Amino acid sequence: MEIKKKDIRALTKEQLREFFVNEGDKAFRGNQVYEWLWSKGAHTFEDMTNISKETRQMLEDNFVINHIEVDTMQRSSDGTVKNAVKLHDGLIVESVLIPTETRTTACVSSQVGCSLDCKFCATSRLKRMRNLNPDEIYDQVVAIDRESKLYFNRPLSNIVFMGMGEPLMNYNNVIKAIDKITSPEGLGMSPKRIVVSTSGVPKMIKKMADDAVKFNLAVSLHSAIDEVRTSIMPFNETFPLKDLKEALEYWYKKTERKITYEYVVWDGINDSMKDIEALVKFCKYVPCKVNIIEYNPIDDGAFQQASNTTIDNYIAELERNRIVVNVRRSRGKDIDAACGQLANKT
Ligand code: SF4
Repeated sequence: MEIKKKDIRALTKEQLREFFVNEGDKAFRGNQVYEWLWSKGAHTFEDMTNISKETRQMLEDNFVINHIEVDTMQRSSDGTVKNAVKLHDGLIVESVLIPTETRTTACVSSQVGCSLDCKFCATSRLKRMRNLNPDEIYDQVVAIDRESKLYFNRPLSNIVFMGMGEPLMNYNNVIKAIDKITSPEGLGMSPKRIVVSTSGVPKMIKKMADDAVKFNLAVSLHSAIDEVRTSIMPFNETFPLKDLKEALEYWYKKTERKITYEYVVWDGINDSMKDIEALVKFCKYVPCKVNIIEYNPIDDGAFQQASNTTIDNYIAELERNRIVVNVRRSRGKDIDAACGQLANKT
């Protein structure tokens, strides 16, 4: 019977050290292998040239090294790059590189498909197949870092967890991936440059606050009226705005870090004065800023971006109430890499 080999990158450094001690070797061997796996990005045990042949064979007999593979890569006329990433079991997720004048941002996926059902989102049409492992999340970032250096001559500067999936529904693996991204043995990035964007799972927002995470939090809000929010994000029925508000107050009390609300304004859905006033009120609960995001229709076109006049009304009212508001232009529309479009055609 064939023994199912374990993914060696699922082991922590401590577990690798223990493995070598149990094999009668030195714990230090674990450090060497760990360095090959994470800092040097080894794809095979053969690559580990300072490890003896016998040890490499023993690793080969016990483990596999799973790496993602960029299956197809598309470049937009605005410089945005979308990767369709093949996982070791053949499933595909997408990640996006978004360049601006001063920064390169990676938008990464945390799940294959999504269990939530946001009506405006292409990913919601794929049922959730599985969570991504920490190394699969990490590898998406490494691939985009490589592309950033290749196409823009600079390393990746920011990461947003806004690709496929709800990151807080895969919390442990997202945290492990971020630990690796921020550790000196990984990419050594500052957690201040990482944003985890959630549709708003109150219990997990509180857990993040208790865990004293150092990255930033964004919430896809899209409406501050329960009825409207439930109609576009049905899970709001289970996690209504009052629970979200309470969790965000808890987050701010513990972390003292502002929250970003992601907000799309759709024609006929959340474009009335009542919607604007509700958002202003919600913004007063906890220090925050609002990103108004340009929307890209997905195929059936039920959701259409509201007029510029409506968006200007939102901006004016938020600013009048001294709430910081930015408008985020959409990127990579021509390759379906823009917000809400992932999984549209691949
Ligand atoms: S917007 Fe995010 S949480 Fe909602 S269905 Fe899409 S991927 Fe899932």
